[in-house]
This record gives sequence, structure tokens and C-alpha cells, in this order.
Amino acid sequence: MNTSHYIGGRWVEGQGSDCINVNEPALGLPFAELMAASVAQVDQAVSAARQALTTWKRVCSQARAAYLRGFAEQLGQRREELIALQMRNNGKPRHEAEIDLDDAIATFAYYADLAEQLPSKNREVPLAAPGFTARTRLEPVGVVGLIVPWNFPLVTSAWKLAPALAAGCTVVLKPSEVTPLIELAYGQIADSLGLPAGVLNIVNGKAETGAALSNHNGLDKLSFTGSNSVGSLVMRSASAQCRPVTLELGGKSAIVVFDDCDPDQAVQWIVAGITWNAGQMCSATSRLLVQEGIADTLLPRLQAALQKLRVGNPLAEDVDMGPLTSQAQWLKVASYFATAREEGLHCLAGGQALDREGWFVSPTLYTDVPKDSRLWTEEIFGPVLCARRFATEEQAIAEANDSRFGLVATVCCADLARAERVADALEVGHVWINSIQAVFVETSWGGTKGSGIGRELGPWGLSAYQSVKHVTRCLG
Ligand code: NAD
Repeated sequence: MNTSHYIGGRWVEGQGSDCINVNEPALGLPFAELMAASVAQVDQAVSAARQALTTWKRVCSQARAAYLRGFAEQLGQRREELIALQMRNNGKPRHEAEIDLDDAIATFAYYADLAEQLPSKNREVPLAAPGFTARTRLEPVGVVGLIVPWNFPLVTSAWKLAPALAAGCTVVLKPSEVTPLIELAYGQIADSLGLPAGVLNIVNGKAETGAALSNHNGLDKLSFTGSNSVGSLVMRSASAQCRPVTLELGGKSAIVVFDDCDPDQAVQWIVAGITWNAGQMCSATSRLLVQEGIADTLLPRLQAALQKLRVGNPLAEDVDMGPLTSQAQWLKVASYFATAREEGLHCLAGGQALDREGWFVSPTLYTDVPKDSRLWTEEIFGPVLCARRFATEEQAIAEANDSRFGLVATVCCADLARAERVADALEVGHVWINSIQAVFVETSWGGTKGSGIGRELGPWGLSAYQSVKHVTRCLG
């Protein structure tokens, strides 16, 4: 494959030393390979973005909006191809791959609207002091490095690319080595829309390529989504150069079920929150807190629902959950099954890798998990749910907040006043009440505590790529 990097408006072959295998997780076999970008190619991409910035930031926001609408439109035109690639390379069932594509389309359309409104945001600022006037001007941050993971590649990249381009930034995007093909569609669309060369650059590669980008002194900002361990390296490189960084990191989120819930409805929310994308979600609600009065009714139904899920190749009909996306992730989840056995956890469902080709594991439920268990405290990134019982609302809030992460939470409760009260008390970036994993482009995305710094989506996602300038004039 010789079209795996898009630099300065040209498709180029990777000149790095790493060969990247692109796998089909349902078979556990590679179906493509490409060479990573070299450090010199990362440098060329940053230079191209720097050169393009001078013109791009002056392009009127209506024209930038038109390009973004073009992205939305062409994603829609390539629907089948992009869904098929996500099913094959990510192992996503069709309905999940469709939702990802629709999310990416909605993101480009939304930031096209926001780009159109940009001129109205530059306004006069009323001053109390006489003799002066001032105006605000929102300017692009500049050249931005975007580093993303593999679990929702089209979506995560859209959440960064669309607002960055809307703000007038130029970018270098580094997709994950696990899913290096899908985001190339963004380069192909840029090409076909005639987006000026260098505005969007894509370099594929592993850690070396990511490090070359995050350490590059030609960037004005870094936006990273991924693990806490790599996030901390990215933050270190940002700190060495005193430049801003947005971090979207891991989670170990709670789903809190109160006694007054319909147990069957609650089971649906719990199952979706841990098995969607085979649990490979930063926002997976992997800690179930269930109130004592409903626990004995709910847990057997949850066990049955998890055992009934159809786990299989996403290309087959009627699949509820696909494989884990990479062998490394499969081995990691299997190591947590081993830890659970060593810790003597009570397993109500699953608890094992499936004995078949591909990287499959069974949807898993452990109950009465001790608070100090590694399975209760660490992000597993697979369909592994841990449950604990609680007595009071205060106890539920305290246990939910007792985590180094703070990404999301779900509250299942018929008493809406209580649900709102609990939502306000949870130390996270997003709470769902009686719903699950519903992310709208108008609302914010991001976490508190160890789940990151900054917000994506909504107007906050655009602000992340803007710098505020004031011009103050003396009237005297
Ligand atoms: P990862 O941190 O291993 O990799 C993320 C990206 O960083 C990849 O592109 C990778 O190549 C690159 N990278 C690796 N080493 C690097 C280095 N030294 N310098 C710079 N870049 C480097 O994460 P992953 O396994 O791809 O993704 C899973 C993680 O992402 C989970 O922890 C998950 O919670 C998190 N995540 C968070 C969000 C969110 O919105 N908060 C969304 C999706 C995923």
C-alpha cells in the first residue's frame, strides 16, 4: 500500500522502519500492511501545516464551513465502504459502525454551522472605564497535532478535525496503528474537495511516530485521545514546550441502579453500557452499583441477558457483540480474567476468552467485587462488568466518586428528583439519566480527575482550537 500518508496535499509511501499489520479481529489475521511514516515525514507534515496556516486562517469562515459540509456529504456518499471497513478492521457489528459514521457526519455538519456563526462572535466589549473601547477577536490556535486511538477512529478524529478546521487551524493527524486505514478517507475527501494543501495532513505509525509528532517544536497545540500512560507522555512533551494540550483519557465509570427502577429496562441499559463496542469504550459503565432492594431481582436477569448475547463475526447476521479489536487488547482482557480467578471473584457470566479463531471474549459479570480489587479500580477496556450493592443514596454517590477517573456515569432511577440530585453530585464530565451512551454533538465530552483535561464537542470543542485576542483602543 503506497497511499498511507497524506502530507502537504500529496499521497506518499511511509519511509519509517515499522511495518504496520492491519488485522481482521474476527479472524485474528492481517488483511493489509503499510510502512509507518518516518520522523522526517512527520517533520514534513508539520512544515506543510505551518505553511498552509498563513492562508487558511484568513479563509473566510463561510468558505471553511463549505469545506466542512463537503466532508459531511462525502462521508455519506462513502457510507457502505466506510461501514464495511470499520466492521472488518474494528470488529464492530453493522449497527454500531453505522452509528459511528452518522456521528462523524453530524460532527462535520455541526461545526460547519458554528464556523458560519464565527464572525458574529467577534464583537465589541462594553467597558466601564471611559475613554476606551475594545473588541474581541477569536483566532485559530495555529498548527495542531491530533493523536487518536482505535476504538472509535472515525468519530474521535471527526471530533478533533471538524472544530480545528472550523476555527482556522491546520492539523497533522496521527491515527492509531491498529486502525490506520479508516481515517485516510478524510485525506481522500480533502483531496477531492480541493482543500488547500497542508491544511490536513495524516501520518500513520506507532509510538515512534506519535512521539515524533508530540515532541515536535513546530506545533502550537496537541490534542490527544488515548490511554493515561501515553497521555502523561504527551503532557510531558507539551509541558517541555509550554504549549496547550487537550487530553481525553480513560475511565472506570459507574452505573447506579436504584430500587424503584424497572429491572428489565435497567438490564438493557447495563448491558449496552458494557458490551457496546465489546466494552472498548472510555465511557464504558463498567462499575455497577445496585441498590439492595432490587439486586436479587436484577442480577439473575442481567446474568441471563449477558449469556444470551450473540457474540460473533460482525460480517455474519444477527451479531450483538463482535471481537476485541486487537490481539493486545484480547491478551489484556484475558489477564484480568486470570486476576479475577486469583482474587477468587464471584463470576456470574463469562470470565473467559472464547475458544475459537479471532479475538473473542465472553460478556462477563463479577458480583460483590471488593473495592480494592484491580477489576473494580482499573480500566479493563473489554466487556467486563463488576457489581457491588449499596444501601443509601449517599453510599452510592461516595462509591461512584471513589475512583481516580471521572469520565461519565449513568443513573437509573424512577424518582427524577433523586436522579437529578445524584447526577449533580457525581464527579464526572457527563451523566446520563435513564439512558445510556447517548452523545450529542451539541453537548460536551471530556472528563474530570484522571480522565483528562479540556472538553470536546459543542462550542467548547471549538474553543479548544481558538485563542482569544482583545484589541483595546484609546479614544483620547
Ligand atoms: P494509546 O494511548 O495506546 O494510543 C493512543 C494513540 O497514541 C495511538 O495513536 C498511539 O499510536 C499513540 N502513541 C503511542 N505511544 C505514543 C507516544 N509515546 N507518544 C505519542 N503518541 C503515542 O491508547 P489506545 O490503546 O489506542 O486507546 C485506548 C485508550 O484510549 C483507553 O485508555 C481509552 O479509555 C482511551 N480513550 C479515551 C477517550 C475519551 O474520550 N476520553 C476516547 C477513546 C479512547
